[in-house]
Amino acid sequence: MKIIKLLAIILALTGCNAEPQISSENIIIIDKPIDFGSQRIEGTKEYIRTHYGLSVKDITIKPKMIVLHWTAIPTLEKSFAFLKPQALGDRPDIKSGGNVNVSAHFLVDRDGTIYRLMPETYMARHIIGLNYSAIGIENVGGKNNNTDDLTSAQTKSNIALVKYLKTKYQNIEYLIGHHEYARMKNTQYWLEKDDSYFTQKSDPGDRFMKSVRDNVKDLHLLTPPAAKDCR
Ligand SMILES: [Zn+2]
Repeated sequence: MKIIKLLAIILALTGCNAEPQISSENIIIIDKPIDFGSQRIEGTKEYIRTHYGLSVKDITIKPKMIVLHWTAIPTLEKSFAFLKPQALGDRPDIKSGGNVNVSAHFLVDRDGTIYRLMPETYMARHIIGLNYSAIGIENVGGKNNNTDDLTSAQTKSNIALVKYLKTKYQNIEYLIGHHEYARMKNTQYWLEKDDSYFTQKSDPGDRFMKSVRDNVKDLHLLTPPAAKDCR
């Protein structure tokens, strides 16, 4: 009898009739660190100095935005292997930007499993102009780097991660897709000194951004300024 009573209380407290809600409390994050030793830390400081004109003692950022990506690599293993080394590999398109490897704070597998690759407030190299205030979430996928094949499990995990991050870092203002990043040039967070250092991006696309944004409306995160407002 006592057990039934207890069960009833638990069910009442958890609201068992409602759809399961993703909340920042029940997110599961698996730590799977990329190599982040002194070479990467010093390379990041150098990147901050040359690209953003800032001389910093450490690479800690104050997060103001969350940026969603796809890796354009079809598997977790290959995506992780790409991000793991400290030095940049074969990337002629961004080689001029420095030798520190690209990175992101989180990597979401196609089944929705969330991996944390590095400390959340270290600067990652994942988005030109905005790295110094941006937390990056990479999603395994993006066929041929031009086709949105991201899964509904990844959508759910990105929603959960955005909620988790906004709860933890309340000064986060923006939620953006990498393909929207040119529209951030007008904001105070764009720091890139070299106007010619810019690449066109298509990840993760409007459909994926809408499916995430539609489910985090209550967080009141900003979208990038409209393109017509850019000067
Ligand atoms: Zn990207």
